Amino acid sequence: MVNLALETRNNKEKIPLIWLETCGCSGNIISLMDADDPDIVYFLREMVDLTYNNSLMAAEGEAAYEKFLNTLDKEFILVIEGAISIKDEGLYNVIARYKDRLITGMEAALKAGEKAKYVISMGTCASYGGISAAAPNPSQCISVNEHLNKKTILLPGCPGHPDWVIGTIGHLIAFGIPELDEEGRPIIFYGITIHDNCTRRSYFDERVFASKLGEKECMFRLGCRGPITKADCPIIRWNDTDNWPIGVNTPCIGCTQRGFPDGMEPFVRY
Ligand code: SF4
Repeated sequence: MVNLALETRNNKEKIPLIWLETCGCSGNIISLMDADDPDIVYFLREMVDLTYNNSLMAAEGEAAYEKFLNTLDKEFILVIEGAISIKDEGLYNVIARYKDRLITGMEAALKAGEKAKYVISMGTCASYGGISAAAPNPSQCISVNEHLNKKTILLPGCPGHPDWVIGTIGHLIAFGIPELDEEGRPIIFYGITIHDNCTRRSYFDERVFASKLGEKECMFRLGCRGPITKADCPIIRWNDTDNWPIGVNTPCIGCTQRGFPDGMEPFVRY
């Protein structure tokens, strides 16, 4: 990925980062750990001061939540992954117990979202509700934007690619907010469709289609959502390999788009 202009930050204090995991599968923080260039070690050593994240931090219990509270007095970046469950005052998603009180994701997101310099909605659940808000949505999940009632930077994906969040945070540190599309997604990562750069595009153009999974031709007739899905997966690929979903014979299921998953089903058609 692009070498971030970090030399501009010589000897400056790193900006604190709160990475809040609300109602989701925590797939985005796992995805971050798979970052390769730069990797998570570089990200944590050189770019941000990760003060709070329940998967990666050493502190536990009330001491951990106090790190969250202490960060609120500084200038910081907030990343939220997961949707916000609002049913029963948010009690379906409790992130901490502090002074005998349950702290919900709903409360923590609001508390930090009001004060953060930048807010990033990481992954499709945070960006649009995603799988957490899929029908029948038993915990009444909503997106971060709906909950905070303000526009955040959206990095949808199920999960989001680590380059998308490290690249966006690098841009925030060095230059401020990157150019966004009408949804609030950085154009550098979401400016093109999967279809635009698909390795099977020549088959599509020749109208040569696969009839079942495992065939090498275009999967449009199997339900591929590449033509309507914006992300640079065919270029950046995943897990420090040359692979990506279509490369391993699965149609694009449109996970970076608003409406995923309900609006994208069935994922495969015969
Ligand atoms: S496999 Fe999907 S993204 Fe690739 S060319 Fe066919 S329809 Fe487009």
